[in-house]
Amino acid sequence: MANSSFESFHPPQRILMGPGPSDVNPRILEALSRPTIGHLDPKFVQMMDELKDLLRYAFQTSNEVTIPISAPGSAGMESCFTNLVEPGDKVIICRNGVFGSRMQENVERCGGVAIMVDDPWGRAVDLNKTEDALKAHPDATILAFVHAETSTGAMSDAQALTKLAHEHNCITIVDTVTSLGGIPLNVDEWELDAVYSGTQKCLSCIPGMSPVTFNDRAMEKIKNRKTKCQSWFLDVSLMLGYWDGGGKRAYHHTAPINPLYGLHEALVILHQEGLEDAWARHRLHHNALKAGLEALGLELVVPEAERLPQLNAVSIPDGIEDAVVRKNLLDAYNLEIGAGLGESAGKLWRIGLMGQSANRGNVLYCVSALEAVLGELSSSIPRGKAMDAVSAVYNK
Ligand SMILES: *Cc1c(COP(=O)(O)O)cnc(C)c1O
Repeated sequence: MANSSFESFHPPQRILMGPGPSDVNPRILEALSRPTIGHLDPKFVQMMDELKDLLRYAFQTSNEVTIPISAPGSAGMESCFTNLVEPGDKVIICRNGVFGSRMQENVERCGGVAIMVDDPWGRAVDLNKTEDALKAHPDATILAFVHAETSTGAMSDAQALTKLAHEHNCITIVDTVTSLGGIPLNVDEWELDAVYSGTQKCLSCIPGMSPVTFNDRAMEKIKNRKTKCQSWFLDVSLMLGYWDGGGKRAYHHTAPINPLYGLHEALVILHQEGLEDAWARHRLHHNALKAGLEALGLELVVPEAERLPQLNAVSIPDGIEDAVVRKNLLDAYNLEIGAGLGESAGKLWRIGLMGQSANRGNVLYCVSALEAVLGELSSSIPRGKAMDAVSAVYNK
């Protein structure tokens, strides 16, 4: 109670090159500030319908059930598990980073049985091991995995994993929080069943919403549940009364009106750029960043074929203190890069090139700021070469 003069909060202007949130496009910030209208206003309902179509484009799906959950990516994850997992259900989970463990938590809290298939951090999910687990557990009904593991920067083969799952009568739950908008993701062509994502990674929108899409196989399993979905809020059949009620939408919860304007704008921006161009842009700036980092003597952790362009995990050189570097970058350069998560804390940095953040200015800025900060801390960092290495990629 002591503070007698509260003032408005004005955040500093940062450059966000961590694991999310990413830089938000000014067009989205402007959209957020448009007038709030009622969540059942016909104009708002019209916007919701368009938003669903835009999401279908982003996911490359014609799934009827394609909506943004009014809560962050973690809630999208939870919506998939609470709707699809009933007590006693066996779920095979591929774990190659932090998010696989969260999937395990979800399954167990739903009363399901989690079968873990572990792969080393920094590597893609192993198809053979997954197939062995599917064979060893013929009574499993779901295979869950992370397409783009943000904790390590590894990309897994969502199409091949889903094919394996279907051969063994399992449906898939796929985490695409970091892949949506950043790397190829074709929900229908790859036959992914239940898919969730986030807004603050490669869509460059604000955090707090989670697009999900369920195909007919997933909806069939939900319709045939013997028990009620454990979560009232995330129960997709109730949520659809609001998002999909045709002429008579029923109140379920008050949608986050202005954040949804922002998401609509983010998806319009993605549509205007075109998915394939967005994917190519992430790839180009990744190549430039990689050239710069390597010229500084830094090593990328993930083998090239399994690397995510939008999340670059870099080993921290011997003798360099993680926290000092990140603090200097933030204080002196207003630049945020990510720390290691879980078992890789202190061992690596995670440099994001997500959405709006994947641009030439950011790459040049990040590499030169790292060169300056690391150069002050260690004489073994090569100086004066990194900018040329970056430029060489852009001038190719
Ligand atoms: C960020 C992230 C999440 C969680 O999203 P939040 O919006 O932070 O709740 C889940 N999975 C992956 C792979 C992520 O990168």
